[in-house]
Amino acid sequence: MADSSALSEIQYDKPQQQDLDKCVHCGLCLNACPTYRELGVEMDSPRGRIYQMVQVAAGAPITDSYREHMDLCLACRACETACPSGVQYGKLIEAARAEIQNKAEFAWYVKALRAFVYGPLLRSPALMTLAGTGLWLYQASGLQKLMRASGLLKLAGLESLEALTPTAQIPFFFGRVGQVYPAEGAKRYKVAFLAGCIQNVSFARLNEATVRVLQKNGCEVHIPQHQNCCGALHAHAGVRDEARRLARRNIDVMLAGNFDAIISNTGGCGSTLKEYDELLEHDAEYADKAKEFVRRMRDVNEFLASIDLNREMRPLNMVVTYQDSCHLAHGQQVRTQPRQLLRAIPGLELREMIGSDLCCGSAGVYNVLHTDLAMDILRSKFHNVERTGASVIASSNPGCMLQMETGARLFGQNQKVYHVVQLLDMAYQRD
Ligand code: SF4
Ligand code: SF4
Repeated sequence: MADSSALSEIQYDKPQQQDLDKCVHCGLCLNACPTYRELGVEMDSPRGRIYQMVQVAAGAPITDSYREHMDLCLACRACETACPSGVQYGKLIEAARAEIQNKAEFAWYVKALRAFVYGPLLRSPALMTLAGTGLWLYQASGLQKLMRASGLLKLAGLESLEALTPTAQIPFFFGRVGQVYPAEGAKRYKVAFLAGCIQNVSFARLNEATVRVLQKNGCEVHIPQHQNCCGALHAHAGVRDEARRLARRNIDVMLAGNFDAIISNTGGCGSTLKEYDELLEHDAEYADKAKEFVRRMRDVNEFLASIDLNREMRPLNMVVTYQDSCHLAHGQQVRTQPRQLLRAIPGLELREMIGSDLCCGSAGVYNVLHTDLAMDILRSKFHNVERTGASVIASSNPGCMLQMETGARLFGQNQKVYHVVQLLDMAYQRD
């Protein structure tokens, strides 16, 4: 049975009237919306979705059609940037999904799958290691190549979905959780690094590069034990109770260390981590702690751009284009900092892409749940990538990196895809 504090929080897990009222239905957000651009359907635009939320708030039932239009939203928040009336669309869509999660009926197998994925799987390093090892065996044994070449995936309609599978990176990053890495040279900062959940398995090398770059910049890097998933996937899917549970644990762990900054290298996670104060605003015990946590939270680009950057780098002679992470650009307003860091690398030429802050179609697990639409969005994105002539795509979110790698393979020229900190890490390496 849910406790009384959880019950009192659930009553806020629906779009609030004062937030809905901010929309004046002007339509200035429509052109910024990737689903509206692809589908041309008003009900799949920000204005149309808000209109439907208003109807439900006025007592209309939650129908399958309502669920579908809310599901098809990427939650990319491009509409939030475009909106002149200050509509906090990200807050609205998460609340609408939470209301669906709490009130709508789901088939038993959907319930069971969601309960497992948004419960034990994302919470448990042991289960994640098991799943990651299975994925590694599939890839390292050659089975993946065989499946891809056999045509079976195409026959089963799973070709696009399988193409999105991340690569399991052995050794996983879990082994480094609990460690402290000293600053190189004089210690200037004591920081905590949030390693993520799936990232420990599929972006272990990116996490290592992040730690090295921070060390190079005078940071003593702590990777605190007992940290857990940030809850972003849960919050985006409307599973807010579990997101709050995960948030409370991260707050306890991270505030105990009295760090100068708490650092994430993932735009999507960072956006939720910076909204822990909203997530826990009705929790009497954690509301203030959440505000303190948010005060210390930094995206790695934001942090590095705010300090005196170590410029002892070797040249990287490459042409790079930058794909904004939606949750970094629209959610956290971090746009100039990654570009500033890329421009600090000698030899690197940054070529801007048209629509760099339009979603690539990754959006958490969107590309898994709505593969066809995500692929259409990705194909459009690659028209713009190709026009830059860049051979490297930089981004600041593992989900976007994975999606852009798939795009480079399917629609591009096999461009290399790196996180900004991986490029810095390369530039810091002497040989
Ligand atoms: S969300 Fe903002 S831009 Fe879009 S219709 Fe409403 S007020 Fe206009
Ligand atoms: S969050 Fe993105 S996909 Fe959803 S309505 Fe806004 S712009 Fe469209």
